[in-house]
Amino acid sequence: MNLSAVDQILDGQPEYRLAQVMDAVFKNHIIDWDQASNLPKGMIQRLADTVPLDIDAQVLESADGRTTKALVKAVDGSKVETVLMRHKDRNTVCVSTQVGCPVRCGFCVTGSLGYDRNLSRDEILTQVLLFSRSLAADNERVSNVVFMGMGEPLLNYEAVLEAVRFLNRDDTFGIGIRRISISTIGLIEGIHRLAREELGFNLAVSLHAPHDGLRQKLIPVAESNPLADLFAACEHYFNATGRKIMYEYTLIDGINDSTSLAADLAALLRGRNCVVNLIRCNPGVPGFEPSSGEVVQQFKDVLDSKGINVTQRWNYGSDISAACGQLKASRDEV
Ligand code: SF4
Repeated sequence: MNLSAVDQILDGQPEYRLAQVMDAVFKNHIIDWDQASNLPKGMIQRLADTVPLDIDAQVLESADGRTTKALVKAVDGSKVETVLMRHKDRNTVCVSTQVGCPVRCGFCVTGSLGYDRNLSRDEILTQVLLFSRSLAADNERVSNVVFMGMGEPLLNYEAVLEAVRFLNRDDTFGIGIRRISISTIGLIEGIHRLAREELGFNLAVSLHAPHDGLRQKLIPVAESNPLADLFAACEHYFNATGRKIMYEYTLIDGINDSTSLAADLAALLRGRNCVVNLIRCNPGVPGFEPSSGEVVQQFKDVLDSKGINVTQRWNYGSDISAACGQLKASRDEV
C-alpha cells in the first residue's frame, strides 16, 4: 500500500475528499477503489493506478482461533510476519518493523535470519490494515498495536514514529496512544529520543539478564548499552511521559532462569516504576530452549516475594509458529 501517494493525488482537492478516502480505506475497508463510489471517476482511476489496495499475505489461524499469523509480502518480494492475538477485551496486532534484524540476539529466530532492510511506514501500517479488514467482517476492530515483531523498532525510528502517529489519528485506525507499545532491545539513545517525543505510548525494554556480563552474551548490543545507562534512559522516559516501563525477561533453560538471578533482578528493579513481563524463550535456535513451566513459576515467585510487579506472557499460537521469526524461518518458500 502506498498511502503517501494519496496526499499527492488529493493535492488541491477540497478537504472533504481526504475524509472520503480515509473513510473508504479505514472505516469501510474497501479492497477495490471502484467501491469508493462517492469519489470522482478520474480520481478513482488515479488511486487504483498508484495506491493498490490488495495485500499479498499468507494467513494461518491457530486451532483455538485466538491467534492469526500472516506472512506479508512486500512489492520487492521481502516477507515479514505479523500476528493478531484475540483476547476477550481487545484485539492486539504485533507488527514487524524490519526485514530480519541486524541485532542478532543469540536466542532469537529472527536474529538468525540476517537483515535486509527497514520497512517503510506504509509497510508497517499494511500489517495492521490486513487484520482490520478481517476483524471488520466480525464487527470488531484492532484495539492495540505492539511493535514487537521482526526487527528492532528504534533502528527504524522515523518510520516507526510516523506509523504510531498515523495509527493514533481519528480518521484512520483511531487507536489510543496508550494502546500502542514499542518494544526495544534496550537502545539507550533511542529511548532518550522517545522520551523527548512526549507521546505517551507504552515502552517495553528487554533485559533478559540482571548483569551486564550475562546480558552481553545474549544481546550483542548490550556492550554499548550498559544497564546503568539503560535505567537512566528509562527513568527519563518515565519522567517525561508518566508511563511505567515494562521490562521484558525471556527465560532460557539453564542460562538466565535461576532463582538467584531472579533475586538479583528483584534487587536491580526495587523502587523503579515498572512491571516485569516473563516470557518463555521460543524454540527454534539450537542451545536456547524454553525454561520449564515449573522454573518459570519459581522465578516469578521470587520476584513476587520481593514486591516486584510481575506478569507472564502466554505463548500464543505455538501450533502455527506464531513467535517472532518462526513462520518466516519455516515457510521461506512462500
Ligand atoms: Fe532483533 Fe529483537 Fe530478535 Fe534481538 S530479539 S535479534 S532485537 S528481533
